[in-house]
Amino acid sequence: MAEQMRQHVRVAVIGSGFGGLGAAIRLRREGITDFVVLERAGSVGGTWRDNTYPGCACDVPSHLYSFSFAPNPAWPRSFSGQPHIRAYLEHVTDTFGIRPHLRLNAEVRQLRWDEERLHWEVGTASGDYTADVVVSAAGPLADPRVPEIPGLDSFPGKVFHSARWDHGLDLRGKRVAVIGTGASAIQIVPGIQPEAGRVTLFQRTPPWVLPRFDRPVSAAERWLHTRLPVTAALRRGVLWGIRELQVSNFTKHPERMRVVEKLALSHMRKAIADPALRARLTPDYRIGCKRILLSSDYYPALARPNVDLVASELAEVRGSTLVAADGTEAEADAIVFGTGFRVTDMPIAERVTGAGGVTLAEAWKGGMAALRGTSAAGFPNFLTVIGPNTGLGNSSMILIIESQLNYLADFMRQLDTLGGKAALDARPSAVNAWNRHVQRRMERTVWNTGCRSWYLDANGRNTVVWPGTTAEFRRVTRQVNLAEYQVLRPPRTPRRAVSAATTEAAR
Ligand SMILES: Cc1cc2nc3c(=O)[nH]c(=O)nc-3n(C[C@H](O)[C@H](O)[C@H](O)COP(=O)(O)OP(=O)(O)OC[C@H]3O[C@@H](n4cnc5c(N)ncnc54)[C@H](O)[C@@H]3O)c2cc1C
Repeated sequence: MAEQMRQHVRVAVIGSGFGGLGAAIRLRREGITDFVVLERAGSVGGTWRDNTYPGCACDVPSHLYSFSFAPNPAWPRSFSGQPHIRAYLEHVTDTFGIRPHLRLNAEVRQLRWDEERLHWEVGTASGDYTADVVVSAAGPLADPRVPEIPGLDSFPGKVFHSARWDHGLDLRGKRVAVIGTGASAIQIVPGIQPEAGRVTLFQRTPPWVLPRFDRPVSAAERWLHTRLPVTAALRRGVLWGIRELQVSNFTKHPERMRVVEKLALSHMRKAIADPALRARLTPDYRIGCKRILLSSDYYPALARPNVDLVASELAEVRGSTLVAADGTEAEADAIVFGTGFRVTDMPIAERVTGAGGVTLAEAWKGGMAALRGTSAAGFPNFLTVIGPNTGLGNSSMILIIESQLNYLADFMRQLDTLGGKAALDARPSAVNAWNRHVQRRMERTVWNTGCRSWYLDANGRNTVVWPGTTAEFRRVTRQVNLAEYQVLRPPRTPRRAVSAATTEAAR
């Protein structure tokens, strides 16, 4: 990167989903305007720009799955669809003046910490930057995971991932194979069933599914939320409170989840009359250890005559024949992979090189870990939004994002208070202590005791979920505790790592 070609900014934000846009808005609110939002795509929206499959919608009610500081009284449904959520994010971008900060088609290819100058070198597809602080909001579910299936190359039809829907596929009369039964697949099946000739669903593991009480938001409700914003806040508060009360069932009393299993089984019985199909759809693990899925049209779609369930994973493709691990064969014209995302091995981690030339992927080889879900040791002035152990099993990720934005704001304030050129690097001891605390609490949770899921990494450790309430997460991210960081100064002044105690005394 040629020095003269680089623009210096105080903060570089990566990504323009809820996380990146939220960070941008928060920075402006803190009076910081010297920042850019680097986005690899041609528009904002993250998840809600990329996922355009039929039936795509949120599974946390819209009035909770939105920014607290940007309520939308006009949500059309209790669980609004992707076009509305995307439009909301475009609207938020304009309302909060984020447009001038956007650098679209600017995929971040490389981030390198300069230990002498105490800044990040940021190489993107459309120009290079240096930045004092980097906020990585590259998304926990942004990079599709497609399994390697022998013979897939021999398939003559269209093949794509749920997050890269090919709208050139005319579904009418087509035989479509859907691979996987996660949150996206259970929306896709009812989304395409009415049009497709035949849908074959390959199921490795049956999910637990509860009804989704989706309904249009009435004109009267929308009028009330517009004229009396307190009613929208109240609605949000109730939705939040209900989910907070459920958390201890996941974290401390997984045995209580049996009641919820009964509800899910009765939900299935209502739609599936065939006992053999019911048996294949009945999970054999504790509800809640994988994400509980919400749908009122998944089971009815499976009961339709043009839908087949193969209760086995896809093992091989031979031309247009798909072969499951149990030997079942099905013919298809198109394959849709609803097989999830690279969650525990985020690609951005391979591109970030911190102190001592170590990449974040190398630092996280034994499992992702970051102080308060945000700061990894050896990566100064680098904050991850939706970092390790910040995921939720039952509530809105926007609550987590907003808590991390509080942390970001305080991080920036602390840097200001230190004065001069300074950087904050999480102490390894603090990261380890935080991680031990989180992992200890994880032991009893349903996520660790109930089954093997995508929440667990290659070492069987849960580095994805937050084992507490969102209120608790908000509390622990309200302020940066300087004692948990080393304060770095440029070597010429002279180079030193001021102990937190010294720094505290100086403040
Ligand atoms: C189909 C679907 C439905 C979901 N429904 C819900 C729900 O109902 N409730 C809920 O709480 N959560 C839900 N989630 C989770 C959802 O991902 C989060 O709620 C939230 O949208 C994450 O926001 P984000 O900004 O962190 O990430 P994203 O929205 O994924 O945004 C990340 C952005 O970073 C960009 N990016 C990535 N790498 C780079 C790079 N190297 N350079 C530049 N830009 C880069 C991406 O292009 C993207 O725009 C859902 C996820 C999916 C996939």
